[in-house]
Amino acid sequence: MDRHLALELATTIRHDGHGGVADDLATVQGLADWLRAQSDLLDPSLGTGDFAADEAARAEVVAVRAAVRSLFARAVSPEPPSPADADRLLSTEDALRALNAAAARQSVTPQLDWPVGADPRKSLRSGEPDPVVRLTAALARAAIDFLTGPQRELLRACTAPRCVRYFVKGHGRQEYCKPSCSNRARVARHYQRAKPTAQKPTA
Ligand SMILES: [Zn+2]
Repeated sequence: MDRHLALELATTIRHDGHGGVADDLATVQGLADWLRAQSDLLDPSLGTGDFAADEAARAEVVAVRAAVRSLFARAVSPEPPSPADADRLLSTEDALRALNAAAARQSVTPQLDWPVGADPRKSLRSGEPDPVVRLTAALARAAIDFLTGPQRELLRACTAPRCVRYFVKGHGRQEYCKPSCSNRARVARHYQRAKPTAQKPTA
């Protein structure tokens, strides 16, 4: 399955496995770890790989994530959004403003590289000195690419019990983000059916 930087950012808010919600970006160390795990998705020419995370950077990345998740919520509509932040979504207008502003903070120039014997590659060059600007702009660009690309139509919020993930629907019948979610949903449906029907009091 293809990984998308925007989706990876959105899914740093996830089911913690115990009925709660975990946030991988809750701490500066969490941001550093997450960035290391995404190094293959971040353009190395932007210099985000050797990024020194701090609280200010964390706050800016979390702000981009809030915009991305708010737009994901809109993208899956009329299906319900992820329940993790359904009660604190930004308006579409505010989310667009935040995302576009983050992308606009850095100007980049695409460059064509054609190493001998290898495929041509596109890289991005930028004179932007602030690594936080480079990082947040790269995340915002990834979200813009995602939301204007073919994945948007396939974006879903997983409806398995307790799951809060957004995912890109793969094969035709995929309904849940992971096989474990599919199993949990099946078990929940089973118990729903097995439960004796309670008598509803008539009002
Ligand atoms: Zn799920």
